[in-house]
Amino acid sequence: MHKFQNPLKIESNYIKLISSNPIKIKLSKKMVVKYFTLYKQKKYYYVFDIYNAKVNRAIIKKLDNKTYLKIVQNNRKKVRLVIYSFKKLSIKYTKFPNLVINIKGIKQIHQTKKYLPKYNNFRNKIIVIDAGHGGKDPGGIGQYHIKEKNIVLPLALYLRNELKKRGYKVYLTRDTDRFITLRNRTKFANRKKADLFISLHCNISPRHPEVYGIETYFLSPARSARAKRVAKLENSAIGNLRTTTQNVVLNFLNKTRIVDSTKLSIDIQKSLIYNLKKHYRGIKDGGVRPAPFWVLVGTNMPAILIETGFISNKSEARKLINKTYQKRYAKYIAEGIDNYFRKNP
Ligand SMILES: [Zn+2]
Repeated sequence: MHKFQNPLKIESNYIKLISSNPIKIKLSKKMVVKYFTLYKQKKYYYVFDIYNAKVNRAIIKKLDNKTYLKIVQNNRKKVRLVIYSFKKLSIKYTKFPNLVINIKGIKQIHQTKKYLPKYNNFRNKIIVIDAGHGGKDPGGIGQYHIKEKNIVLPLALYLRNELKKRGYKVYLTRDTDRFITLRNRTKFANRKKADLFISLHCNISPRHPEVYGIETYFLSPARSARAKRVAKLENSAIGNLRTTTQNVVLNFLNKTRIVDSTKLSIDIQKSLIYNLKKHYRGIKDGGVRPAPFWVLVGTNMPAILIETGFISNKSEARKLINKTYQKRYAKYIAEGIDNYFRKNP
């Protein structure tokens, strides 16, 4: 049988970051702290070398827009804590009993939320909302003879209001019941130099009316069976390109744009599911999925397509035609967009 050692003894070489506002490090008696400053390549460095110390793994934290905290194992016996910044800081510290560092001139920290800019910082962002289908193209036809084009239009109008309130510049590919080709939708977004392109649709699964849920698709060359099925429905408004041509186009997709589209789709889907669940039962997270929608392929900016729900499902169809539901839906898409821009300004 093993004799248990006191775990505190084993760990005593290891430093521990107790808080980052102020920066507080638990020290043991053996540890010695030496402090110096540096100015190098337009950055101010405030360095605390902690001797006879170890750190489990490197810590890097953003303290504010211009200031970072880094704690790393510098050599076998030394941990280096560095605060570096593009602006000059005023630093006060104590070494006993613990290392406590106060930084003057940075707003604090650990709740990332506090650092997120407010709405009006996004004022210059341009968003194109694309209500799917329209005019002679009804889109999917669901329960109660609901036409997709008539659900996504009011939703797009609510979304416009919601985004304008938050300071965005907003354009709609259509604000009435009219037909537009997919090519003209993406052309429009490119011409407006949009930062985001949001396409709104409704799903149908006529043979499986029990299927429901909210799905957000981001542009991707990935072609799963499911993505193909939905893409086939939504791509139907253009003459289908030959498969070889499709593959050529998809292989040339810009990687950053795919990554941004993915992030955007995650933020919107999260916001929708989290917030709608507060008000409604039967909100199902259908997930975030890659799909090669042509309406997304043609745009130059991060682009997503929201399958807002299945109108072939009775309960979801009833929700989607409800004005309150539509307004809330629009609000939560907008919140998702806010979240995206806060993290990716
Ligand atoms: Zn559609």
